Amino acid sequence: MSTPASFPDVQLYIDGTWRTGSAHAGDPILNPATEEKIGTVAHAGREDLDAALKAAEKGFRIWSRVSAHERYKLMRKAAEILRGRADEVARIMTLEQGKPLAEALMETQAAADTIDWFAEEARRQYGRVIPARAGNVEQIVVREPVGPVAAFTPWNFPINQAVRKVSAALAAGCSVILKGPEETPASCAALVKAYEDAGLPAGVVNLVFGVPSEISEYLIPHPIIRKISFTGSTVVGKKLAALAGAHMKRVTMELGGHAPAVVFEDADLDLAVKMLSGAKFRNAGQVCVSPTRLLVHETLYDRFVDGFTEATRQIKVGNGLDEGVRMGPLANHRRVEAMEALTADALAHGAKLTTGGERIGNKGYFFQPTVLTDVPLSARIMSEEPFGPVVPISPFSSRDAVIEEANRLPYGLAAYAYTRSAANATEFSRRIESGMVSINHHGLALPETPFGGIKDSGYGSEGGTEAMEAYVNTKFVTTAGL
Ligand code: NAD
Repeated sequence: MSTPASFPDVQLYIDGTWRTGSAHAGDPILNPATEEKIGTVAHAGREDLDAALKAAEKGFRIWSRVSAHERYKLMRKAAEILRGRADEVARIMTLEQGKPLAEALMETQAAADTIDWFAEEARRQYGRVIPARAGNVEQIVVREPVGPVAAFTPWNFPINQAVRKVSAALAAGCSVILKGPEETPASCAALVKAYEDAGLPAGVVNLVFGVPSEISEYLIPHPIIRKISFTGSTVVGKKLAALAGAHMKRVTMELGGHAPAVVFEDADLDLAVKMLSGAKFRNAGQVCVSPTRLLVHETLYDRFVDGFTEATRQIKVGNGLDEGVRMGPLANHRRVEAMEALTADALAHGAKLTTGGERIGNKGYFFQPTVLTDVPLSARIMSEEPFGPVVPISPFSSRDAVIEEANRLPYGLAAYAYTRSAANATEFSRRIESGMVSINHHGLALPETPFGGIKDSGYGSEGGTEAMEAYVNTKFVTTAGL
């Protein structure tokens, strides 16, 4: 196991230069597995933000005039650089975020694939010609980059949350100020470094850290910024969307979820247990599309609970750098406190614990993978996104009832179903109020497929061709007599 000694101190990246912040030189970065300080992160003050805004304005002028083909080539180079550094970046990510090394490596490699996808999309931003009503008129539609973007990304996937926003923006010809996650800044900075080393002109991507509310309240209304993209909680997202609305800024919001996973009476039970237990505890449950309300047909319920509980008990929890560890610590102390509170509340409402339920040790933010049954709807966990390794399992008796329960919450991000029946699958996917539906497997979050929610889970897409829409304006040009 490598020592944390080589963990980098993280600086701001503004106008092509890494620099200390004018607010604080070095707030501590903690390793969530040990609670030890492993590095520092610079905090931006107002003068850094002004410098980043000026740089983004200049960067936009430069980058929006670079041809799509050249943007494509540079982005492909950045992807190759990131891929080449994947082992080193993954280790840094595990040290600061806690996830098992294999997950960190997968995230870094997937980020390189995301850059490749958006690089290719840069070359496909086609406009169109609309047949005119008069012979001497030409009507065309062109897609133009929306302008400098302010992007805000969280700590659960330090690279992947950032790479989608930054790469779609760059593919469209936009410049970016990225406010990265203060608790997991180094792996996010490694993404920016890959772009720097690929030769991205100064000012096109700028990276800042600091007090999130101070930065968002300054950047969102600022006239240089033309587009906002945020990933995080619904509460914060609503505030930022309101602020953006007051200033008529384009917005993408990728917010919380509380994904129902329905196991119908005709499901492949073993497959459902295996897939759902794997997905639920990935990244210690700190995933917006995590299956978080398991709804199981009453005829399979007991067997499912037994199988799921057994699969959960098999999960080896520990330091993400250690061999064989499947679940690391939670990323910060807030999640441990939230797991304790949600579990205690469910038990107080009469829920039963089949496994887990407690913090592990008193060093590091470890919490046992936890399964609850007989949880009444009045318990908080049935309505609040857990964002951690605690999951309720509930029985249902009819398709109508389970779809109604699945749609009960204001969230609508991801939904899952296990069934061998085309009728169940079709009915579920048609009636579920959700931005994404995955049936009999977990097939979400690929670069080439749409990614986003509805209702309180936000709006806009961060994957597929749809993701480019957020970063382009449509311009209609009609010309007569030429
Ligand atoms: P939080 O709600 O304070 O922060 C969530 C994210 O938003 C963080 O990255 C934070 O830096 C950012 N943020 C907070 N206030 C902001 C502001 N005023 N302006 C700009 N950015 C701001 O809480 P937290 O403890 O970090 O996370 C708790 C909850 O956030 C979780 O329960 C989960 O629901 C949600 N979350 C969602 C995602 C996701 O992938 N959708 C990721 C991380 C956290």
